[in-house]
Amino acid sequence: MPTSASRLLLLLPTTTYRTQAFVEAATKLAVDLVCASERPSTLEALAPESLVTLDFGDPLASAEAVARFARQRPIDAVVAVDDLTTVVAAAISHRLGLKANSLPAASVTRDKHAMRRCLASAGVSVPRFRLVKLADEPAALAEDVDYPCVLKPLALSASRGVIRANDAREFVIAFRRIAAILERAGTELPDEARRALLVEEFIPGREFALEGLLVGGTLHVLALFDKPDPLDGPFFEETIYVTPSRLPETAQARIAAVTGDACGALGLTEGPIHAELRLNERGPFILEVAARSIGGLCSRTLRFGTGLSLEELIISHALGRPLESLERERRAAGVMMIPIPRAGRLVAVRGVEEAGAVDGIDEVAITMHPGQDVVPLPEGWQYLGFIFARADTPAAVEEALREAHTRLSFDIG
Ligand code: ADP
Repeated sequence: MPTSASRLLLLLPTTTYRTQAFVEAATKLAVDLVCASERPSTLEALAPESLVTLDFGDPLASAEAVARFARQRPIDAVVAVDDLTTVVAAAISHRLGLKANSLPAASVTRDKHAMRRCLASAGVSVPRFRLVKLADEPAALAEDVDYPCVLKPLALSASRGVIRANDAREFVIAFRRIAAILERAGTELPDEARRALLVEEFIPGREFALEGLLVGGTLHVLALFDKPDPLDGPFFEETIYVTPSRLPETAQARIAAVTGDACGALGLTEGPIHAELRLNERGPFILEVAARSIGGLCSRTLRFGTGLSLEELIISHALGRPLESLERERRAAGVMMIPIPRAGRLVAVRGVEEAGAVDGIDEVAITMHPGQDVVPLPEGWQYLGFIFARADTPAAVEEALREAHTRLSFDIG
């Protein structure tokens, strides 16, 4: 145990799957942890040195609050968990003089329109896009769009509210459906994000996710995931991620290069990034770059060097500690985010043991519990759970995940 442990501030949104993984990593690295959340914790009075309540919607006020806290207990690094806290992490880091992404760079990644404009003007390949106001008449807008197109909210994540439209009639239906989602999301979103949405050219092709770590402005690719299920809409449910990618090296290098260009254009310089791209005969297109690590429980697929977790890498980097290795283990690994087949109340989950017994399956983690309301896309954002596999080849990983999934059954009432 080091004599004076480093102190890490972890910014935890109320709805995140990622707390446990980061807390475990901090413990393993013998780091003093301070957790910030939006809801005052009943434990805060008992542990004022390790719990802070912040208003994540007000980055500057949060930065001041943390600066006051840090006078007594200096903070050495700040880590954002999930999309909702990346901007506030940048503001706090700046206030404390820590090396991190700038506030403008983090803010651009949280606004899909600003991100598209920034990338397009830097010459990075993105879908053609157009901002439309929710106050506008959708039937009139629909006349002036090339099909197929994708409509999406400016500031939601996990594919929530992202809908493909093939013609004017589908455009109007999708537009109204997104308007209703934004109405319900209410004050959790900034004003602009409640008043407009993005209409984009639909980019055909295979989809990939790149997990990276920026160190002093240089992008290190930690893993490139294939998404073997076609994502053609109308909704875009994530299912299987498998790494290493089965793409030829040259195509992987092009994906890495365009992602690096995108980070540069956005001004991202430090910490984890998670990018989504499509690849077709026109080359790779950036769909999104987020200044955070992979969501859900998916980071369990990744191990580095002598067995470090992704969260250990992220925390070590944030603290400026030497990074032992950014090399992922050699075995193929993958995850299936278990989709919600229909809306209702989860009554029971069967077959977990049978699914876990499939060759190559590491773990079946059911994250929703009986009695819980389950909401599929485009309104929902959660998964029933996650299946993890490791095997000698990416194809064997994919097969194991599919086989395990067939052994699960969900009773939704
Ligand atoms: P979110 O941040 O909510 O995940 P994205 O903009 O990344 O939203 O879109 C979610 C998914 O929708 C993507 O991973 C992709 O499968 C699909 N998608 C989004 N935009 C397009 C597009 N222009 N063309 C094709 N597919 C798209």
